[in-house]
Amino acid sequence: MRLAVTNIGTIVSGDWHEPFAKGDTIIASDGKIETIGSASVTEVEACDVVIDANGTTAVPGLIDSHVHITFGDYTPRQQTVGYLESYVHGGVTTAISASEVHVPGRPRDPEGVKALAVAARKCFDGYRPGGMTVHAGSVILEPDLTGNDLGEIAKKGVWLAKAGFGAFASAYEYAPLIAAARAHDMITTVHTGGSSIPGSGAITGDHLLALKPHVSFHVNGGPTAMPDKDFERIIRESDMALQICTAGNLRTALLCATLAQKLDAFDRLIVATDTPTGSGVMPLGMLYTIAHLASLAGIAPELAICAATGSNARVYRLNSGLLDAGKAADIVLIDAPDGGTQGDALSAIRNGDIAAVGAVISVGEPRFVGRSRNTPPTTRKISVTKCSMPRDFSGRY
Ligand SMILES: [Zn+2]
Repeated sequence: MRLAVTNIGTIVSGDWHEPFAKGDTIIASDGKIETIGSASVTEVEACDVVIDANGTTAVPGLIDSHVHITFGDYTPRQQTVGYLESYVHGGVTTAISASEVHVPGRPRDPEGVKALAVAARKCFDGYRPGGMTVHAGSVILEPDLTGNDLGEIAKKGVWLAKAGFGAFASAYEYAPLIAAARAHDMITTVHTGGSSIPGSGAITGDHLLALKPHVSFHVNGGPTAMPDKDFERIIRESDMALQICTAGNLRTALLCATLAQKLDAFDRLIVATDTPTGSGVMPLGMLYTIAHLASLAGIAPELAICAATGSNARVYRLNSGLLDAGKAADIVLIDAPDGGTQGDALSAIRNGDIAAVGAVISVGEPRFVGRSRNTPPTTRKISVTKCSMPRDFSGRY
């Protein structure tokens, strides 16, 4: 499919160094962005589908880097079907598994945890709930696993490893396995803060600095925060990504974001939800955290969006999260919510309102155009002005 989005008011690039892109049109084909900026009438007319953004704001599809994937579009913790598809209506086009710990009766032996990660990874290879790209299969590090085990599953496509729910007496004991996972080119992640389930133990700054993961999972607490003094230490003394989660401690999320900006580490700040969990299914979680960062921590709305898109993509090595030629055509049109006090999406976010989602395109395909079923309606009306395919993008169910 060849797709054009025209009349875009503002383009947020997803790259925090240069958060805005010039122009008003994006053309995508075969799932990738082909051109961004301007296009001739002939180029637009050659597209199968044309969406009139009507002055709204284009942002990269949001990347939620902490989702409790299991199998299918189902969360056992909240016994809810269809939550991933619902997150697409919150502008999320990519979910990254925080490990399949919620699978009922999850195995803890080496063969079991390996099989679980490989099966989860492969189950989502060609399955896109609601159009979402799901990176599943994060191996749960357990005491009897070896470096060779990690090498074996790395060859089968597993590239995520998670420390924090294994049956270790002390969190420091994860260190050799995290180093081994890194040696196999996996992205390593460590639970941060007080225990989220009984027996999983507190993980604080000392642990993180010793374990050296790529990502401090829910650095603001999952959901219980580590001591305030540890935030500056991990920013200054490591290069790990600082993942702010909606289902965490809001005060320390703001503390960490403010410090990251002050200490020139904003590129390491990434946004996620850590849902579905005991905190529930939160289809608009990413939009809420973006609004919290912009309205309460003084972070420019476009930079908060970059933390939820391009920065996540860089940390997790994904070819998405940026509105740029060659990147995955994951495009979300947002606007000021209808009936609010602000005139455009970024002003609304700065005001603390969540943005209204008016269209979601993932891997070059419109998933719905007009209005999200989860956000308020947009102020400006977004419409499909040409469609030469037997499809209806209204998103009505
Ligand atoms: Zn989690």
